[in-house]
Amino acid sequence: MNEMILLKLGELVLKGLNRRSFEDKLQANIHRRLNGLGQFRVYTRQSTTYVEPMDPSCDMDGAWEAMKKVFGVVGLSRARACEKDKDAILAACREYLDGPLSSARTFKVETKRADKTFPMTSIQLSQYVGGELDEFYPNLQVDVHHPELTVYVEIRDYAAFVHADPEPGAGGLPVGINGRAVALLSGGIDSPVASYMIAKRGVALEMVHFFSYPYTSPEAKDKVLELARLLTPWCGHLTVHVVPFTAIQEELRRSCPEELFTIIMRRFMMRISQAVAKRCGAKALVTGECLGQVASQTMEAMAVTGSVVELPILRPCVGMDKEEIVQVSRKIGTYDTSILPYEDCCTVFTPRHPRLRPLPGEVELAESKLDIESMVRQAVEGIERVRV
Ligand code: ATP
Ligand code: MG
Repeated sequence: MNEMILLKLGELVLKGLNRRSFEDKLQANIHRRLNGLGQFRVYTRQSTTYVEPMDPSCDMDGAWEAMKKVFGVVGLSRARACEKDKDAILAACREYLDGPLSSARTFKVETKRADKTFPMTSIQLSQYVGGELDEFYPNLQVDVHHPELTVYVEIRDYAAFVHADPEPGAGGLPVGINGRAVALLSGGIDSPVASYMIAKRGVALEMVHFFSYPYTSPEAKDKVLELARLLTPWCGHLTVHVVPFTAIQEELRRSCPEELFTIIMRRFMMRISQAVAKRCGAKALVTGECLGQVASQTMEAMAVTGSVVELPILRPCVGMDKEEIVQVSRKIGTYDTSILPYEDCCTVFTPRHPRLRPLPGEVELAESKLDIESMVRQAVEGIERVRV
């Protein structure tokens, strides 16, 4: 065992959420993400979670990458293990942290001692290691108040560990701590970003995709499943509810005014998503809508589509510029798949002149000829669930 991973936890001063459930949820999520990478011991002490490999066959690089995507972690570092002896610790610092020690101008050493039988106090050990490093590296000066580099030494039960300043973590809150929501996932750029942003606030997600076969192709569906799969390192395992949407779209094209087609179609998306949410205990819907981006994303249109459901609709991209959304989608790794050129159900039967600001009563009148309940029921009954 010569390495372990330390995770620094974020947002622990949470109102209404207690620290214990935060840590328990985080730990369960960490265990799930480490699945298949080997046996690890995971435990939390003083706002730090320790991820320790139990045998040398553990995939530490895989674990490091996985831990960077766990919400609830603000910083993480890899630590080198060594013998619990002051000179072995010093040697480990010089070897493992030679890069940062050679380039920093000021530093300090901070020791945490879990093993109280270690013969030096934390302060004595910090002073010893700090003094020796100070002497060895001519570029370094001790600064205990605002050091450029902090060298951490941990004396644990079976070994000592050294590590330096942490890398930034994924931030946010552990997935699951804030309940569950249904995210409407299209094949575009925005909805995967919206899903990521809500998961980051500690919400477990169920995905809904409206599929208009044969107007949209099996490749279009595979693309959406791939997007969901790309979100799993952040969100955990996901179920994609693939809703057969063709019959509803054909019915709307037959019996609704063309300029209201998109808005009425979106009302059906909301009703069906809410039905899915009720079945899986979700308390909100999530969309990638952005104010003013397309005809159906005016405030008036959002009001008309939102009014058919009771659940709140979360639209985390609503105030973002496209460029900002693209940046996030590149960061989380969904961009290249989002821009693959497969059609979405929204581009099927698109009206030539969609109504930007529907008049009050106009949409309800157009819908009055429809058997909404049975259309929704049939769509829900035809759902195919895919686990990714
Ligand atoms: P995106 O890039 O997410 O596709 P968009 O800018 O293309 O968004 P629209 O096509 O109007 O916008 O869709 C707005 C939102 O409605 C999407 O972000 C998504 O949440 C939802 N949505 C659209 N089409 C589908 C679909 N086929 N299945 C599930 N949700 C959809
Ligand atoms: Mg779209």
